[in-house]
Amino acid sequence: MTDTKVPPPVLRVTDLQVHYAVRQGLQNRTLKAVDGVSLSLRPGECLGLVGESGCGKSSLAQAIMGITTPTSGRVEIDGVTADPGQRIGGLARARAIQMVFQDPYSSLNPRMTIRQTLSAPLHLHKLCPTGDVEDRIRALLGRVGLEPDAADRYPHAFSGGQRQRLCIARALVVEPRILVCDEPVSALDVSIRAQIINLLLRLKDELGLALLMISHDLGVVEHMSDRIAVMYLGRFVEEGRWDQVLSQPAHPYTRALLASVPGMQKTGAGRLRMTGEAPSALRPPPGCAFHPRCAVAVGACRSGEGPGIAQLAQGHQARCHLLDEKVTA
Ligand code: SF4
Repeated sequence: MTDTKVPPPVLRVTDLQVHYAVRQGLQNRTLKAVDGVSLSLRPGECLGLVGESGCGKSSLAQAIMGITTPTSGRVEIDGVTADPGQRIGGLARARAIQMVFQDPYSSLNPRMTIRQTLSAPLHLHKLCPTGDVEDRIRALLGRVGLEPDAADRYPHAFSGGQRQRLCIARALVVEPRILVCDEPVSALDVSIRAQIINLLLRLKDELGLALLMISHDLGVVEHMSDRIAVMYLGRFVEEGRWDQVLSQPAHPYTRALLASVPGMQKTGAGRLRMTGEAPSALRPPPGCAFHPRCAVAVGACRSGEGPGIAQLAQGHQARCHLLDEKVTA
């Protein structure tokens, strides 16, 4: 297979930073929610983004969407670049990239029927003649596994899983190139999570969607992702193909995450544990930000700027001082 057949990225993020000025007592501090993240995503590809709560996943998603203003860096969507420090806006961008949120209960307007919810973006973007709107809505409902008469009902008439299907339909109605899914199954009953994951996978393949799948649960992204990025305190600490990250995890944080999910310890290396909670992004530790929790930290980990990104294999990279050594617990 040659690279010439690989489509160009539809989303390219370069050195993105999202910093907030925070007043703490008498001191002004900077909260680095996202601190120099780069990624790219091709049509039909799924990038799984994992990390604990507060690591910056949602801040990154919001900056990519243009919901918040990046401090610096570049977001390029379908070949169009937003200037550094500016919000990403405009109807064209709103069409190209859509988001599915965690809570399907608060994501739909309870006073609008599903027909009103789905037809509003069609009218706003002038995507089809008025006479074709009904057919578009029926086809879309069928695509996400709902009956056509769902269009006449209000959100309260649906279960959690059905509402998430409706949220996905609303995101797809403008025919986006990129779908950002922020914990799309974590608020759902365990029994229907797999249905929503399978639906997203099917839509990705059928429509050639680029999926950015955000989850705190490695078990969720395992089933969906072509590549996985692991985020800790605003930075990617490991990124690679799903098989590289899951079978040959290099970063102690990745290994600890894997060890915490039953049945996911695919590596032959020993289990690594981490201790305590993630520190506040307002007061990141010196050196490697993971060192207070790392089971294999050495002296060099506790001071300085912290490790840079190192290439381990093609497409597989991580940020740790001990990558050249065998990391054992
Ligand atoms: Fe652990 Fe040191 Fe590697 Fe950080 S740099 S992950 S503290 S071994």
